[in-house]
Amino acid sequence: MPNPSAPLKVQCPCGEIELQLTGDPVVQLYCHCDHCQLAHGAAMVPTAVYRSSDIGITRGEPRVWRVVSTPRHSCGNCGTRLFAQGSDEHWGVNAYLLPEGVFRPTLHIYCKFARLPVVDGLPHYATVPARWGGTDEVMEWPGVVVTASTGSN
Ligand SMILES: [Zn+2]
Ligand SMILES: [Zn+2]
Repeated sequence: MPNPSAPLKVQCPCGEIELQLTGDPVVQLYCHCDHCQLAHGAAMVPTAVYRSSDIGITRGEPRVWRVVSTPRHSCGNCGTRLFAQGSDEHWGVNAYLLPEGVFRPTLHIYCKFARLPVVDGLPHYATVPARWGGTDEVMEWPGVVVTASTGSN
C-alpha cells in the first residue's frame, strides 16, 4: 500500500490532468447529497477530503463548473470528476482517482438524500456531523433487512 503521507500523484484516465496530493486526507467519506448525485450521475460519491492547500494541479487545466454552487473541477477531455471545492479550506477529491488502499472512509454524509441505502458499520449522518455545523442525527434505514447467505447449492 502506498504511504498516504507521501505526496501522491493522481491523474484522470486520459492523462490530461494530474493532481498532486500532499499529506493525509482530513477525512474520507461517502457523500449522498443531491448535488453530488446530479454531478456524478451516481447514488453516492466516495470522497477524500484534503486541505485545499494540499491539492496541486501539476498538469493540465481542469474545467470548472457548478451544479448549483460548489465549484467542481473535471477533465474537459475525458469528463472525469477530479475534485469539488466544498469550502475555502477543504476540497473533496474523487476517491476513484486514488490508488488501491488509500480510500478508507469513516462516515456517510447527507444520507437524507440517499437513493441507495448502504448497510455497513459506518455512521450514516442525515446531514453532516454537528462539529461541521450540521446535526448528529443518523439514519436507521427502516425496512432494510440484512441476511447472510452462502447460497443453497
Ligand atoms: Zn455531496
Ligand atoms: Zn482526462
